[in-house]
Amino acid sequence: MKSLTQVQKKQILKRSPKCFICERRLRENDEIEFDHIKSKARGGDPNDLSNYAAAHKECNRGKGTRDLEEYKEELRLQDIFNKYPTFAALAKNVKPPSIKIDYDAKVIYIEDEKAGLHQCPNTKVWYFYHQIPTKYIEVM
Ligand SMILES: [Zn+2]
Repeated sequence: MKSLTQVQKKQILKRSPKCFICERRLRENDEIEFDHIKSKARGGDPNDLSNYAAAHKECNRGKGTRDLEEYKEELRLQDIFNKYPTFAALAKNVKPPSIKIDYDAKVIYIEDEKAGLHQCPNTKVWYFYHQIPTKYIEVM
């Protein structure tokens, strides 16, 4: 599909009047672009009209060629860090994931993730290194 007709653009906007990237409503004066929800490179059908949606120009340019879900995660993290810019503020407002610690096996379970537990030989403080998926961050 080379470019969308005005009729097709109107159909798409009627079907989904929100930006498919940030999910905020598209307003009359917003600069908008129509793009594939799933790019051809990621297995989307470039000729399928239902694979098209409208987005704010800014959102679409920001996303670039990145995967939509990955980019949404990035936006979500940005929102969280904008709302709670310090670790103290974040810690007060985020529901921690469920954590289980097995000191004998030296393992920590964070939801369904597992990480090795280490102990500082000098201070005896236990610690671990592990990335925590953003899906476990629940902002209150
Ligand atoms: Zn947007």
